[in-house]
Amino acid sequence: MNQNPPPASGQSAVEFQNVSCHFGEVIAVNQVDFAIREGEFFSMLGPSGSGKTTCLRMIAGFENPTEGIVRIHGQDAGNLPPYERDVNTVFQDYALFPHMSVGENVEYGLMIRNVSKVQRKKQALEMLDMIQLPDVYDRKPSQLSGGQRQRVALARALINKPRVLLLDEPLGALDLKLREQMQMELKLLQRKVGITFVFVTHDQEEALTMSDRIAVFNNGKVEQIGTPFEIYEKPKTSFVANFVGLSNIFEGAISQEIFGNSNTHLVRPEKIQVAEATEGNFPNNQDSSSISLKAQVGVLVYTGSHTKVEFYTSSGIKILASLANSHSILPSLAKDKEVKLSWNQADSQVLVG
Ligand code: ADP
Ligand code: MG
Repeated sequence: MNQNPPPASGQSAVEFQNVSCHFGEVIAVNQVDFAIREGEFFSMLGPSGSGKTTCLRMIAGFENPTEGIVRIHGQDAGNLPPYERDVNTVFQDYALFPHMSVGENVEYGLMIRNVSKVQRKKQALEMLDMIQLPDVYDRKPSQLSGGQRQRVALARALINKPRVLLLDEPLGALDLKLREQMQMELKLLQRKVGITFVFVTHDQEEALTMSDRIAVFNNGKVEQIGTPFEIYEKPKTSFVANFVGLSNIFEGAISQEIFGNSNTHLVRPEKIQVAEATEGNFPNNQDSSSISLKAQVGVLVYTGSHTKVEFYTSSGIKILASLANSHSILPSLAKDKEVKLSWNQADSQVLVG
């Protein structure tokens, strides 16, 4: 998926060292510790109010840590005002200047650095070319669609060639189709320019699609950092498992019944196999590398390419499976039909909290 992931070594673009940020009684960010690599597409993912924007604002210099250190390219950013940091921000609402033309908007950062008009226009046209809007230089922002405005906001942020680009839910205002298209474009653009992107989103699918690595935020803390694969396949906590993708989480007495221990176990719905509940399908010597149990069909929900089926066991355990709609057993899955559910032990995962 990620064709040219940045190297793991080298100096960090941004580093949070035991950083907290309090607003009076509110602990917005609570002792976070992580490093963002140079050239990386790094996402901060989490529900609303989990501290993502506050972290971004501390990188930009709009907020100061209550404790801890934020380093940008190795330098303690504590005393650096926003304009002395080699970073730029793209916001959800674009914040284009409505009275200026698109060209003037894109050139703005060069104008305040006294770059000549000829040079400005040349670079702005290059940027507009890169975002695939070569013909909008003389238009007003009001004459563009939402997706086009968002791309212009990107061009405006990139023209100064910041080493780090901060993006706070930049696609949040776009409709689904456009958002998906922009996700691909943004990812390609990031690879092309090679700038470190720090991307804030509450949308797990967006984070999985675009990122080299993801930090999952919960209540001001970072729950887990990893590649999209690690976050989805190997979540460490119930929070991460639940926030990213659909989950069966078994704990306590239910775990005891299924797994023979009381750890908290995760099984993703697509890992569950469904077969006819014939006698031959339940061998006496159960293979310890897989788990199988009898269950009955509860609710079926058609979702286009897949059908989600909630099963229940005689002891009342609910189990969610996701079956491709080409699956041969699907047409026979009537309510209360008895089936065999199974999964490989390797496809289940013990959660720590
Ligand atoms: P997110 O971006 O993940 O939605 P934020 O970083 O914006 O979360 O906010 C984290 C917490 O800090 C929330 O409880 C929010 O209400 C609070 N908060 C953020 N900024 C301020 C502020 N300037 N004053 C008081 N509380 C704030
Ligand atoms: Mg936010």
